[in-house]
Amino acid sequence: MTRAFNFAAGPAAIPTEVLEQARDEMLDYQGSGMSIMEMSHRSRRFIDIAEEAEANLRELLNVPEQYDVLFLQGGATLQFAMVPLNLLREKTSADYVNTGSWSTKAIKEARKFCGVNVVANAEDDRFDRIPAIDTWSLDPNAAYLHICSNETIAGVQFQNFPETFSDPGVPLVADMSSDILSRPVDVSRFGVIYAGAQKNMGPAGLTVVIIRRDLVGHARKGTPSMLDYAVHAGAGSMSNTPPTYAWYLAALVFRWLKNMGGLEAMEARNRRKAGKLYTAIEQSNFYHCPVVKEARSMMNVPFTLPDPDLDGAFLAAAETRGLFNLKGHRSVGGMRASLYNAVPEAAVDALIEFMNEFEHERG
Ligand SMILES: *Cc1c(COP(=O)(O)O)cnc(C)c1O
Repeated sequence: MTRAFNFAAGPAAIPTEVLEQARDEMLDYQGSGMSIMEMSHRSRRFIDIAEEAEANLRELLNVPEQYDVLFLQGGATLQFAMVPLNLLREKTSADYVNTGSWSTKAIKEARKFCGVNVVANAEDDRFDRIPAIDTWSLDPNAAYLHICSNETIAGVQFQNFPETFSDPGVPLVADMSSDILSRPVDVSRFGVIYAGAQKNMGPAGLTVVIIRRDLVGHARKGTPSMLDYAVHAGAGSMSNTPPTYAWYLAALVFRWLKNMGGLEAMEARNRRKAGKLYTAIEQSNFYHCPVVKEARSMMNVPFTLPDPDLDGAFLAAAETRGLFNLKGHRSVGGMRASLYNAVPEAAVDALIEFMNEFEHERG
């Protein structure tokens, strides 16, 4: 068996060691004679998995005690609606920063529920940067301030986070779907952090929400139970049948991250991986990265070839070398290499070697 070097943006690579363990436990989980998939979410065995997952996630991200950690469904996309439904409280508008396609989608959804002030917008710069924080026109009466910490499609990532008004309190809300667990973050600066699992935590079907407890319990009247954070917090994320297998795989990923040395170690590794690739792109006259240096993502590296007519040949040749899923998002074209935690350094080395060869042949 050979494992592909998989640069997919999501669903994305999962650590081989995690998949091997899942394989070994697939038919008979710890002598139970059953797969996790076949067990009650209320069984002792599954509760143990769920508790371990939460404890390890709290430890990895150093989540303060006064935060709830929820394991939900519906993807990050459902959070685009749950955030305004739960956080508006008596307010009528929220602040949003538009740094790319995912921010844009979050804004569009929020507009169904409240006024949205776009306090900074990089659209006219083709989403190649994070607008300087001191230029944002923040509203002290906003219900919250929403950002996307890493724009998966454009490849722009926040390197530091804004201070928000503490009086009156404007909580900072972040969509961290594509960079959660890639580096340490100070959770105490956020009101809500949410992320779909299928980029950096495991398979699709699971969404993690980390929410400061004082923000739970204010869903607007008429909010469906399944969209109310308080319902999930009160039921240990088991108000209905949770996505047990995805939760189990995320538990294995969290264990793997601890064995890898935690988030400081992951950040160092991710910096090295992305740094090598950006350097290779910079040093060539053939490849180009459209993102300004200060905002370049460690997770998603977009780049173009000098002529889009070469894209097909590049992708085909890459596949013959075992390098898969390098095609850029249809909205931007070109290439995109996603370098999530589970992508080994050897994959990046192989990609760079291939890119150099392709340049020499075609450049
Ligand atoms: C993938 C992604 C989403 C959408 O996630 P779903 O789980 O498909 O809803 C939202 N935001 C960001 C930043 C993403 O990368």
